[in-house]
Amino acid sequence: MILTVTMNPSIDTRYQLDKLIIDDVNRVTPEKTAGGKGLNVSRVLLQLGDDVLATGLLGGHMGAYMAELMDADGVKNDFVPIAGETRICLNILHEGNQTELLESGPQIAPAELEAFTAKFAELAAKADVVTLSGSLPRGVDAGYYAELVKIAELRAQGAARHLGCIAGAALESNAKPELVKPNLTEINGLLGTSFTTDDVDALREALAADGRFAGIPWVVVSMGAAGSVGFHEGRAFRAKTPAIAAVNATGSGDSTIAGFAHAIAAGADDVTVLKTANTCGKLNAMDPKTGHLVMDRWDEIYNSVEVVEL
Ligand code: ADP
Repeated sequence: MILTVTMNPSIDTRYQLDKLIIDDVNRVTPEKTAGGKGLNVSRVLLQLGDDVLATGLLGGHMGAYMAELMDADGVKNDFVPIAGETRICLNILHEGNQTELLESGPQIAPAELEAFTAKFAELAAKADVVTLSGSLPRGVDAGYYAELVKIAELRAQGAARHLGCIAGAALESNAKPELVKPNLTEINGLLGTSFTTDDVDALREALAADGRFAGIPWVVVSMGAAGSVGFHEGRAFRAKTPAIAAVNATGSGDSTIAGFAHAIAAGADDVTVLKTANTCGKLNAMDPKTGHLVMDRWDEIYNSVEVVEL
């Protein structure tokens, strides 16, 4: 089973408008999704045929509705109830623009977080792979992912737990996930650099020199349409894919995490792991739905992804 964690889920509501008229009435038809990075990962894993369980925090009427949306998607879920209301995020697509209104989400009480930590320990013990992604809600310390990484490691029975997360705070600690996948902007923010997609050698050196990445078996830096670079226990790979006109690249990083979780759980070799992850990211960019792959083009896209060892 692959366990996905979404600590600050949202009911994502999308409105498509020809033109957004400011200071007047806009009539819209909503499209609602069980949102949050971990839920995007969950939906893609379902498409890949994995046994997935989603967990996190859910509250109030919005939380109950969110559970209905997950059920409708076929995403098995076991969330911890909280007193606050699960948030709503609005995404307005208009005139080629994407205007987003994101609620910050509920404040989490210490007892609620304790209940989640206990739930996580119970579920992680049954999981082959755990993915951690997305922002943490108010009331949850920035170092919380590191705590979850340590719990997942402790609970590992035989097979190692594998985690995909980008959380600077998790990197600061001695808790080492199996895999981290920042994108290029995030890695430049973490390193204080301004690398472009052409600076692979310099990126490799900078990562090797930065103690925060020491001991993390897989470090992958995704680069949008330019593919990704992956470092695994001393080996370095560049993954490239022919350009496409992206329909909706939101959720491509989450889809990539799903690909990593899927391939690593299946015990795939390094090249297959990277090909699978990049295929998932690209197939998501080709699909109008966030966290959804154009599965009928799997073979074509998988075969077009080129992975070379550096
Ligand atoms: P994030 O969503 O975390 O910022 P990226 O934008 O780097 O992640 O996308 C993750 C992966 O998805 C990339 O490594 C690539 O394989 C694929 N991808 C994303 N956007 C495109 C695109 N426009 N064309 C082809 N592949 C894409």
